[in-house]
Formats: sequence, structure tokens, C-alpha cells
Amino acid sequence: MFIAKSEKYQLINLVGITQSELKKLAESRYYCCDCGEEVILKKGSCKRAHFAHQKNSQCHYFSEGETNEHLAGKALVMENAHQFKLKAELEAYLPQLKQRPDCLLEMTHAIEFQCSPLSYKKLWKRTSCYRRKGYQVHWLLGEALYPKLSQRYLTRLQRQFIEFSPRLGYYLWGLSVRKKQLVLCYGIEQKKAHWSGHFHYLSLEKWNLLNAFQEGTNFTETWRERQPLLAQTKLNRQYWNSVNYRAPSSLFQLQQFLYQKGLNLRQLPLIYQVPSLTDILLGEKEVVIRILLFEKLQSSGYLSLLELATIDQESEIQKILNSCSSLVSHKKIIALSCYRFLTFLEQVHLVRRENDDYIYQAPRLPVESYLKGKLENKVELVRIPLEYDMIKQ
Ligand SMILES: [Zn+2]
Repeated sequence: MFIAKSEKYQLINLVGITQSELKKLAESRYYCCDCGEEVILKKGSCKRAHFAHQKNSQCHYFSEGETNEHLAGKALVMENAHQFKLKAELEAYLPQLKQRPDCLLEMTHAIEFQCSPLSYKKLWKRTSCYRRKGYQVHWLLGEALYPKLSQRYLTRLQRQFIEFSPRLGYYLWGLSVRKKQLVLCYGIEQKKAHWSGHFHYLSLEKWNLLNAFQEGTNFTETWRERQPLLAQTKLNRQYWNSVNYRAPSSLFQLQQFLYQKGLNLRQLPLIYQVPSLTDILLGEKEVVIRILLFEKLQSSGYLSLLELATIDQESEIQKILNSCSSLVSHKKIIALSCYRFLTFLEQVHLVRRENDDYIYQAPRLPVESYLKGKLENKVELVRIPLEYDMIKQ
């Protein structure tokens, strides 16, 4: 942390301090603003000057040792705020919430720069607490934590921080202190056995942080327009076969569900394998939703928007949501997945939309042969509409 109290109850801020000022400060003793414990002024030969608690400290707010990246990130945010004349408070204490964001901008935007692991429980608790009290919280992942294209899967930690907007799809933010830029990773999907996404970089020398967030989320040149989503059905089969080789415990629930339906992963009907883009948060469990939707379509001949809006209440769907930890509401995750599947069915003319209903158009051939004919020797073209009209709010 950068701020502590002196013996004379003065607040001392170490950001932007000169070496000679620092030398003078070294003669006094300092105390944590939260817990009151004595803290050590670290003058930093390899880290920035900062205050640190003793090793065995019980301090609620600052007990984790801060990395240099974390310290430098907070200083960078403050620097940006000063450059662009934003009202900013470093390590601001919010008594109503009993929380202390790394920085508070314009009184209502909490900036949290995350450079170390954080449990989902804590992340969710802190986020909902901010939101309830009318603060906007911006989580920024440090350079080691935000997604890289070289990774095959996103880690549980990365998925935790995912948010959703109709423009960007699934997205999250990172901060590169080294390059002084915000990193927006958006359009995050699971593409067969590899995650996929796009990056957009915003230099903090050009953008003030709050405008950068806005620019990012209003991003007009949408990835969906630029890039129709193409995937080969052949490869997709390999994916579903490969799912079989995952740790059996993670598949138990899914296999049990399939077993009840007289299905198994190894011979999953083509209709449930497409589109081959799956939800990054649901993973292979998305197949549960496809099966339930298609069964409903076949049995009653249509699906109403009302039914879709309440589908997340079904017990089978509740079960798969239990393992789905992110900042996106469960309702949205399910709606997005339903919409993706229905859009595909529309493209292969198995459903048509009429007002608020999706009408099933049963093919003359069995569904499996019908679909094979549609997809044979072709690439499966799945283009997800720009606006997810079911999930705008
Ligand atoms: Zn403390």
C-alpha cells in the first residue's frame, strides 16, 4: 500500500515521492489506516517505495504481500487520472461497504487491479457489494493473469472475471503496466478444443481510463461483422470425442444426464454437436441445453419466448449452472446459449421464427440424415447476430 498514518496522525502518500523526501520519512514510524498495526516503510531497491505489514499480520485489507506490478499499476492509474484531470482517490476507504478499492475514480468508479489469485466467493461478494451501493467496479487483470492466445483453455480464474455485453460478447479487461495500456479481450468463445477471442489495446497515454472503458464497450467495429464464424463439422466431432478423455469426475453429471436420454458422448447426434462454438463458461455442458431445447421443439412443435425466458428454472439447467462461476448472471449465460443454438437451427431451416415463437419445421428425412446432407462437404457457417435481442437488459 502507498498510504499510511504517521505518528502525528498525518496521512503519508508515497506515490510520486522523491528520494530525499523518502529519506526524511524513514526516520518516523507508520501505522496502517485500517487495522492500526505498525507497518514498515519499504524504500524499495527492486520494488517501488511502499508500506508493508509484518509477515504474520491479520490485516483485513492489506495482508497479502503486494507485488511490484500491483504497486506500479495503482501508481499508473493515479498518473492517468492526474494527466486527464479525473477526480481520483488512492486506496480509498468506502465505509458503507467496508471495502477499499485500489483507486476510486470520479467518486463512483472502483478500480481493482488483480495480480494474484482471488477466490470466486470473494470476487462475487466484493462485486455485488459495489453494485448494490451504486458503484461501478472495473476489474483489471495483471499481465500474468489475463488470457493469452498461446493458452489452450482459459483458467478458472480467467473465466471468473468474464463479463458480457451484447456488443462484445464475453469479455474481460487486463492492464499491462509495462506497456501502459489497457487490454480488452472480447468475443471470448470455446472453439472446439481451444479458446478463441480478440484483443483491443488502449494506450493510457492517449485515453483517460474511464473513456477507455467506454470506448472498449461501445467498440463499433464489431468482431461479429468482421468475422463470420466458420468451423468445420469434421473437427467438431474430434472435439466431442476428446471430451471423453477428460477427468471422469468432471463428466459424471453430464454422462448421467445423457444416459437418461439414451445418449452418450462418443456417439452424440450431430444436431447436438453444432454449432461447434460452445459457451466458454458452460463448456461441454452446453449440450444439456441443446438437448432440452430440441426435445421441446420436437414434442410441442414450437418454443415461445416466454418458455425460453424461464428455461433457467429447470432443474437440469440449474445443475449445470452450479459450476459456472463468472460475473455474468446465470440468466444471461443460458439465454445466450439458447439463442446461439436456435440461430443455428434457423440457418439450417429446422426452425423459423414467427413473432415471438420459434416454430419447428420437421424435415422429411430423419434429423440426423437431414443435417448430414446440409453440412456434408461444407463448412458449417454459424453467424451469431450482432444484437442478442433476448438479453439486452
Ligand atoms: Zn492493516
